Amino acid sequence: MGKPVEHPTALILTWKEYNVMILANENFLKLQASYLFSDIAKRVSAFQKNHPDIAVIKLGIGDVTSPLPPACVEAFHTAIDEMASASTFRGYGPEQGYEFLREAIAAGDYAPRKVTIAPEEIFVSDGAKCDTGNFQELFAQDIRIAIPDPVYPVYVDTNVMAGRTGPFEDGAFTGLVYLPCTPENQYLPALPDEEVDLIYLCFPNNPTGAVADRACLQEWVDYAREHKALILFDAAYEAFIRDPDIPRTIYEIEGAREVAVEFRSFSKTAGFTGTRCAYTVVPKECQIYTSHGEPIDLHALWNRRHCTKFNGVSYPVQRAAEAIYSPGGQQQVKTLINAYMENAARIRTVVTEAGYTCVGGEHSPYIWVHTGTDSWSFFDRLLKEAGVVTTPGVGFGSCGEGHIRISAFNSRENVECAMDRIRPILG
Ligand code: PLP
Repeated sequence: MGKPVEHPTALILTWKEYNVMILANENFLKLQASYLFSDIAKRVSAFQKNHPDIAVIKLGIGDVTSPLPPACVEAFHTAIDEMASASTFRGYGPEQGYEFLREAIAAGDYAPRKVTIAPEEIFVSDGAKCDTGNFQELFAQDIRIAIPDPVYPVYVDTNVMAGRTGPFEDGAFTGLVYLPCTPENQYLPALPDEEVDLIYLCFPNNPTGAVADRACLQEWVDYAREHKALILFDAAYEAFIRDPDIPRTIYEIEGAREVAVEFRSFSKTAGFTGTRCAYTVVPKECQIYTSHGEPIDLHALWNRRHCTKFNGVSYPVQRAAEAIYSPGGQQQVKTLINAYMENAARIRTVVTEAGYTCVGGEHSPYIWVHTGTDSWSFFDRLLKEAGVVTTPGVGFGSCGEGHIRISAFNSRENVECAMDRIRPILG
């Protein structure tokens, strides 16, 4: 009998050692570090260090700048007083949201558009980021997913984390079906050539600001019905739509209740980015399927997930959100949005007068400018020569190259000043 081969024991893990080791979800290692906003911050702070005398104007990150509407503040205060008294104190509320808010949403956001959404179909949450990110948990591992490019990065990254993609190669994750949004298609994604099961859509769009009309949305709903697919429709910016003929909700489209989930947020509508309140609509007709083709009630599944992992939005925040639907709240929200939209119109005018083509800014707070040049270089030029911060389009996906996003979220004075500074550079 030969001598047993000796292994260098230091390099080989015993079964016991291997078994006790905490293993990582290696899908997280595929994620591309999100350098976009930290890179922007670094460049801005370097510029500011060298030019302390220049007041930088930020039209980059999509965060609101105006305070909460007074109706919301008042309701917030009252609700906090209720929490301070034993007779009106509230502990855990319903995970799906209080009935008063769900009823106000159904009556205030859907009924005026002649859309019937039952309060039980509404799930109140602390943000559309969490909801759009979490919803993919309900689907199988090997579904085919269509995602626009450029895009709000949460849709892609949460599917990467869940292991539904291959590695990142040549600017894209393998395994995803990207839907290019380019000047050639007016930034509206075409139906995919290959069959897909899950479709992410966002209108008015972040980052492009493009909106979809009824015919365009009908095509997607018809596709989803025909292919037993599901649309995740992000309507976080619906409040910025001016034209009454443009759908404010996917449920204005025939058949959408069978195949679409809608995400909404109070963040941009009413300045709730720091207050946190949003909601998701899952109609009772929506179905997904087992591998044997048996239908599953999507509403029941999301309800189960939501109640297991979420304990509800705080009572004062829900009262503040409810106040948006009061007559005073409605007027104040309108004023708030009109102010941002006046900024957007101003930005559009300056950009187009300088000879650039752009989309957005008409029904959205974002203006997507086609610069035709490297987007980081254009960003640097506006920062260095005008002290104005924008967002380079490539940060939202490879089809964003050659574009910059300008946000209308700032005061009128700052936008005027920024436009005065960039006009000579663009021209
Ligand atoms: N969806 C889109 C398209 C967004 O741009 C944003 C925020 O910028 C969100 C969702 C997140 O909204 P919330 O503040 O409700 O998490």
